[in-house]
Amino acid sequence: MAGLYEFIENLWITDSHEHTVQEVERVSSEADPLQILLSQYASSDLISSGLSLEDYVRALNLNVPLKERWRLIEPFWDKAKNTTYFEVIKIALNDLYDISELDENTIEVLAEKMRSLNKIGFYKWVLKDKAKIRISIFDGIADIVDVDREFFVPVVRLEDFILLRSREDVRRLSKSIKIPIHSLKGLESALESKVQSIINKIVGFKIALAYRRDIHFEKVTFNDAERVFNKIMSYERTFIRYTSPDGIRLTMSDEISVEESLPLQDYMVHKILEMASKYKLPVQVHTGLQEGNLNLVSNSNPLHLANLFMEYYDVKFDIFHGAYPYVRELAVLAKNFPNVYVDLCWLHAVSSSSVKYALNELLDMVPANKIIGFGGDYKHVEGVYGHSRLARKNVAEVLQDKVDRGHFSLDEAENIAKMLLHDNLLEVFRLSV
Ligand SMILES: [Zn+2]
Repeated sequence: MAGLYEFIENLWITDSHEHTVQEVERVSSEADPLQILLSQYASSDLISSGLSLEDYVRALNLNVPLKERWRLIEPFWDKAKNTTYFEVIKIALNDLYDISELDENTIEVLAEKMRSLNKIGFYKWVLKDKAKIRISIFDGIADIVDVDREFFVPVVRLEDFILLRSREDVRRLSKSIKIPIHSLKGLESALESKVQSIINKIVGFKIALAYRRDIHFEKVTFNDAERVFNKIMSYERTFIRYTSPDGIRLTMSDEISVEESLPLQDYMVHKILEMASKYKLPVQVHTGLQEGNLNLVSNSNPLHLANLFMEYYDVKFDIFHGAYPYVRELAVLAKNFPNVYVDLCWLHAVSSSSVKYALNELLDMVPANKIIGFGGDYKHVEGVYGHSRLARKNVAEVLQDKVDRGHFSLDEAENIAKMLLHDNLLEVFRLSV
């Protein structure tokens, strides 16, 4: 019975989603354990458990001694360490640094070990030798960055073309792409030029607007979108007095509300999907649980996207995070629409029991080629590694259970594991490795 676990343990895997700090950047900065480990996820649970924002900020301040910073964190670490976010850290510290539990002594041992490993070669050791990740899709959030192609290939968000609410936003975009923009037509052709300039670098698009608004993108007429664009450009009633960090005093027109800007946002999202269709590139969409605190999950129900799945039937939609907790809604969508894929990225780090329950049901409902089984979604390679261990374990447990119950033969289970953890991503994104 060890067969399936061993097979999955030794499998080379692919990774649908990372924000990993690039190695050159990591090795040129001080490898501080709290700045690294609390850059996301676990920090959100610490804040949820009661850590104040002031103490969180202080805990990341390198001018304060490490022991003192750990003392701020420790009471909340003890309260929150039951969650899977902390399990990921625990696995990474154990396997990469030989530290089983963080306390006021081991935090200093960890700092020392992190410093000594902080040189080029560290990523190859963690991502290739330890995690056996063949390639990861990289989401640079702000723009595409020059990623190390040994480990990553990028997708692009293009949110600067969508989230326009003031003349200053338009000016900043114009400046960054070096194209003057004075009309909605101009904005559209600037988008086209931008995409053309990066088309050979990217493997897809990413939409992460569930952090800013609901993800229902209506079909808006050019005139309705243009009215919003023109309002932004001609706004002259209220102004904001702004002093830049270097003391320059400016007066700028106020921005329109998010609510008012929605028709323009919706219009530009459709333009990006037209581009995805034209260039035959998949689109990754954030749905379900959002990282951080104070988010509203109902904004990111995947059912909001149904009109896009219907209209852009030739675009492959890689729907993130199993849309948790709307995983059943996503299962039904993926069962119905040939162009909708379920992506379990981040989810093994959110909850092992939820992802196993979800995968068990997904395998009853959705063809196995439509399920992408792993994406790390970490800024630090420690998280990528710990998460990959959990993903292998979860997939193995679910498949072994199905073998034990007579649903699949061992051969079939191994084949499904390889599809989920390796082949499907390569096929959807037409990647060759
Ligand atoms: Zn992400």
